[in-house]
Amino acid sequence: MSFTLAIVGRPNVGKSTLFNRLVGRKLALVDDQPGVTRDLREGEGRIGPVRFTVIDTAGLEEVTDASLPGRMRALTERAVDSADVCLFLIDARVGVTPVDRTLAELLRKRAPRVILAANKAEGRAAEAGLIEAWELGLGEPLALSAEHGIGMDDLLRALEPIA
Ligand code: GDP
Ligand code: MG
Repeated sequence: MSFTLAIVGRPNVGKSTLFNRLVGRKLALVDDQPGVTRDLREGEGRIGPVRFTVIDTAGLEEVTDASLPGRMRALTERAVDSADVCLFLIDARVGVTPVDRTLAELLRKRAPRVILAANKAEGRAAEAGLIEAWELGLGEPLALSAEHGIGMDDLLRALEPIA
């Protein structure tokens, strides 16, 4: 059985970088500037022997407070509803933000399965954020580095019950 994985999370946590790594092509835009408007993006992902459809939740807006803008909520809901499993990314270097908390709440209510991951986890700067991620109540956070390809084996293990 093949399945659909949606990568969700606020802008700039590294969703498109991870999408590119899973899909193996430069399909998604990776941007140094948070909040560039884009759409949901779909590709064929692969980790080792496991193949799946992957959705990059793009098109988000930058937010600076606890509110979740309508477009970000709507796009995340669309991604959640078209996926069998959500990979929820936070930025391990930044730690848990109010928007992360709001998204976690949305996912707890709406997503059948959620895998929590703290991205940008290469190096010491990520240690506190990784521990903080437990607060979100979504289980053990995976430590990933989409840019450096770290944690893909853990992601594969987390996907095994679904694959
Ligand atoms: P998105 O807005 O969630 O899609 O995030 P992007 O994939 O566009 O990445 C935002 C920024 O974070 C870019 O500058 C990426 O190069 C950077 N980035 C992504 N993954 C990593 C990572 O694992 N480590 C570090 N240090 N930076 C990363
Ligand atoms: Mg993106």
